[in-house]
Amino acid sequence: MPSPCQGYLAPEKFQMKNANERHLVDTHAHLDMLAKTDTELSSILEKARAEGVVAIISVGIDLESSRKAVSFAESYENVYVSVGVHPNDATIFSEDVFDALESLVENRNVKAWGEIGLDFYRDYTPRKLQYEAFEAQLDAASKRGLPVIIHARDALKECIEIIEGFSNKRDLHGVFHCFSGDVEEARRVLDLDFFISFTGVITFPNAKMVREVAAYVPIQKILIETDAPFLSPVPYRGKPNEPARVKYVAEAIAKIKDMDFSEVASCTTSNARALFDLSVQ
Ligand SMILES: [Zn+2]
Repeated sequence: MPSPCQGYLAPEKFQMKNANERHLVDTHAHLDMLAKTDTELSSILEKARAEGVVAIISVGIDLESSRKAVSFAESYENVYVSVGVHPNDATIFSEDVFDALESLVENRNVKAWGEIGLDFYRDYTPRKLQYEAFEAQLDAASKRGLPVIIHARDALKECIEIIEGFSNKRDLHGVFHCFSGDVEEARRVLDLDFFISFTGVITFPNAKMVREVAAYVPIQKILIETDAPFLSPVPYRGKPNEPARVKYVAEAIAKIKDMDFSEVASCTTSNARALFDLSVQ
């Protein structure tokens, strides 16, 4: 089924607008790092809802955070889950951990595998182990038809190359989260038919290249995220981030692309819904 967003320049856009006018999806947050108590988490989610955030994907970095995300999704409506082992945690990636992840993904709220990838910035995890964990998880996700959430830090070219050379490429889909590459790298990611996701970094004065990439990538391939508690947008830079602030990312994209906020909200929400199979408007 074509995403309604694919026709956003066509007359149908006027029919589509009402449903999603200010609805946003935070496609990447770490709810387990955001709140110490249930009350704190409830109020963070309440604030997000008040800002139009209709769904949040709580992303795991290891087995414990993946399990926590699954339990949040059981307790809170509109919280969904991505499970996986982050490249910085690749040393814990064992057969037992892999088996545990394989059983977690059976849960109906798990919509993605991630964040997975390569991180050569914090180089304390041997690259060989990072590659092994990345490739094993790509393989598992593609076999299940689950989208992947890619983390690439100082290793974007290497991540793109792995996916370009992946044997089961046709069954692999997903998103490069917190995209930090240039236009040429974005083009390669789009050639793979992956989405590109932007965080609050897009609001930082020195993030000119990120804005150039956002101008280049068609709205039909853009997702928005907070990566909370990290990367708070201007005017909250330096403070702990939260899903309510994903609207600043949408606002920045609207400005860059000279679109209405409501169009950006509607398109990115329908992109997220299509990629992650979310049942939100
Ligand atoms: Zn993250």
